Amino acid sequence: MLSVADAFAITQQHRLQLPAETVSLADASGRVLREAVSADRNFPPFNRVAMDGIAIRFTDYTAGQRTFRLAGVQRAGEPQQTLDKANECLEIMTGAMLPLGVDTVIRYEDVTIDDCQATLTIDTVQKNQHVHPQAIDRRAGDELLSIGMRLGPPELAVAASVGQTTLTVTALPRVALISTGDELVDIGDTPLPYQIRRSNTYLLQAGLASLGIAATLHHIVDNEAILEEQLATLLTQNDILILSGGVSAGKADFVPSVMARLGVQKQFHKIEQRPGKPLWFGTTPDKAVFGLPGNPVSTVLCAYRYVMPYLRTSLGLAPAPIRYARLAAPFVFAPAVTFFLPVRLTSEPDGRTLAHALPGSGSADFANLLAADAFMELPANRSEFGVDEAFQVWMTRSDR
Ligand code: AMP
Ligand code: MG
Repeated sequence: MLSVADAFAITQQHRLQLPAETVSLADASGRVLREAVSADRNFPPFNRVAMDGIAIRFTDYTAGQRTFRLAGVQRAGEPQQTLDKANECLEIMTGAMLPLGVDTVIRYEDVTIDDCQATLTIDTVQKNQHVHPQAIDRRAGDELLSIGMRLGPPELAVAASVGQTTLTVTALPRVALISTGDELVDIGDTPLPYQIRRSNTYLLQAGLASLGIAATLHHIVDNEAILEEQLATLLTQNDILILSGGVSAGKADFVPSVMARLGVQKQFHKIEQRPGKPLWFGTTPDKAVFGLPGNPVSTVLCAYRYVMPYLRTSLGLAPAPIRYARLAAPFVFAPAVTFFLPVRLTSEPDGRTLAHALPGSGSADFANLLAADAFMELPANRSEFGVDEAFQVWMTRSDR
């Protein structure tokens, strides 16, 4: 059977090549950039006054002058003025161009103003103080936003400042989330004693929304012919199908055989892991299908260990940063498969991140995940895991 690392590598090798599209800046939040954005001007574009106050010539100050005649006001949004007389000053406002002939700004807090003159109330003045020099932050032509960046608030502000009314981003994949199973009813229904409400597709929908992907929800009964017919349609309408249920060894687990008939090439089925052993993954030249085991904890693990990283790289994002934590207490897991242990993470005063095991009652105990922040990946070739030993963790939340 396949190792976790090999299964992950296979999914990543088959990531989608999604096209680029152009969207307005207002619609670009959360999208992934496909064309770099450069500075059209210097940052800042002129010597920018950084405080409200007066602007003087530093040479007047070094010559001993402390009182300056007010010669005028330079506001933000006005063309640059000039001061050409000694011992004079201009009132200047934050965001204004520094007037020609002056080089140093004194804050209003550090002067008294009366009778058209300003007198310094401080002893120490640095040349060029409170001036934000032209081009000190970035130069015209510098690359500001790079391909593969996710557009969050600061990126959008920078894009706006250089006049990007539109941005080129990765087109979002069309994703269908499909639950299968005769025991599953809609969330608005009252389940009969042998039924449960479906929950996995809602979990997946919320997870995908955190990547900016709006997936559609579907449900299909455990009937092989109906499954084939409906999956054929969904396959033509979508780039990615994510199924929940129907990939294990049960009598109603038709997903692998149906996928084969629909021409989806199986890349793997089953991984040496717990939970989530029955994960199925297949592709066509331009589509991908994940068949997630229906047990809710398996679904969560497979979603965060395989599906979300797949969507990230398909969108053109770098993989999420690798994270580690230390076991807060020893843990034993004997079977020779990778064990994903639900953990709650705490940040300790000494800087360590500790993982507190939440073993729960197995892969159907999804209420247990309410307290969990991550799965800790415990390697297959070990049985005993010591206190304070560090292992990789896979975050299952973006809301904490
Ligand atoms: P399966 O993988 O189809 O054998 O399902 C395994 C277990 O997961 C069964 O107990 C199912 O009832 C449960 N299950 C499957 N799909 C869902 C779902 N969408 N929401 C909640 N539980 C599910
Ligand atoms: Mg089922």
